[in-house]
Amino acid sequence: MAESDPNNEIAHFSLGRALLDAGEAAEAAKSFQRVLALNPNISKAYQLLGDAQLKTGHRDYAIQTLTEGVNVAHRRGDLMPKNEMIKTLQDLGAPVPQFADPLTATVSAGEILCKRHGGVGPKLEKPPMRNAFGQEIYENICANCWKEAIAFGTKVINELRLPLADPQAQKMWDQHIRDFLNLKQ
Ligand SMILES: [Zn+2]
Repeated sequence: MAESDPNNEIAHFSLGRALLDAGEAAEAAKSFQRVLALNPNISKAYQLLGDAQLKTGHRDYAIQTLTEGVNVAHRRGDLMPKNEMIKTLQDLGAPVPQFADPLTATVSAGEILCKRHGGVGPKLEKPPMRNAFGQEIYENICANCWKEAIAFGTKVINELRLPLADPQAQKMWDQHIRDFLNLKQ
């Protein structure tokens, strides 16, 4: 699919992740580079590209990728990729970008400290799905970010042509939504 539709960033991202999981780090790195050439705002792609570069012994490139990634993730409020990339930079003994905005948020009734954007937002009225994932979203994600996730999920279904009746496709959809929402597996 990444080949037949070369401008499909989600297809390249999926391919890169599959290659990385299969131990094909050099090929995975190429896919993530394509993703970032198409859309330089996907924080998670910097994180995975950095991983792939480390696995192929390109420490200096990895540090460059992760440093850029931390800055992008910070700008976009993608808390989890930001923290993961900071941790990797620290493990590598590399300098970590500093930001002067400690999270000092007060959460009122009907609000939630959202894991996606790292700030306070309106709480969902109820879990969006009747399963454990729905409950997890309800407890960790604000209503605004969930609205964005639904739009993103629709794009994923269309671009990857996912047949959602297929449990494997449902799993892929969950994974994309998890990445989008900064929720750990
Ligand atoms: Zn949010």
